[in-house]
Amino acid sequence: MRKNIVAGNWKMNTTVPEGVALAKEVNEALKANKANCDVVICVPFTHLCPVAAEIDQTVLGLGAENCADHKSGAYTGEVSAPMVASTGAKYVILGHSERRQYYGETSETLREKVALALENGLKPIFCIGEVLEERENGTYNDVVRRQVEEGLFNLSAEDFGKIILAYEPVWAIGTGKTATADQAEDMHAFIRGVIAEKYGKEVADNTSILYGGSCKPSNAAELFAKPDVDGGLIGGASLKCADFMGIVSAF
Ligand code: PEP
Repeated sequence: MRKNIVAGNWKMNTTVPEGVALAKEVNEALKANKANCDVVICVPFTHLCPVAAEIDQTVLGLGAENCADHKSGAYTGEVSAPMVASTGAKYVILGHSERRQYYGETSETLREKVALALENGLKPIFCIGEVLEERENGTYNDVVRRQVEEGLFNLSAEDFGKIILAYEPVWAIGTGKTATADQAEDMHAFIRGVIAEKYGKEVADNTSILYGGSCKPSNAAELFAKPDVDGGLIGGASLKCADFMGIVSAF
């Protein structure tokens, strides 16, 4: 059966010492209060090695927030999937809406990134979600279907089974505006149906689909109670140990 997962996305926040201190705090909190779900933190590239040295990854998984669409070579400033894997990280967020919006990531680049992540043993947390205009004009299901199909449906069923999906309505990210639990459930059930059409019910039922967008301790329990919501990708609220643990304890 699919896993419930709470994953933090630190984005471009914290210096290395601040990040290491936060990771240690979360790790200690999880040792003291065992979680009923998998817990992961996705941190800036600079933080991967020092955080990996301080946490127990049987308690707290570690991931990057992106990786390059090439394996190695003359791509100044990029960080490859093999480099991420060599830090000990096990996860990588791919296709976050901020990368699609500000750095022009397309389904084509994302297919390369997903392939490289998988080749290097990293589990992609693949983000999808519509913008406000698409929510309001009613095209949101088509948009999300296209993102899933174009980004992932070149994969074999075996490789698709290694993907974690994160549905993040862009209008709810960092805005304080959460999708209602019913809106999240409708979309998650729709996505699971799209996966079932391509890979069959068993693969669809085994895929973890996380919700992201202004998730916090006060709304996590209602969201996670929905049958197709298998946890959360958490931005702002992952930067304070107490808030993040408040969300983890919603399971
Ligand atoms: C995110 O960016 O992945 C996210 C969900 O952010 P926030 O929780 O801050 O809305």
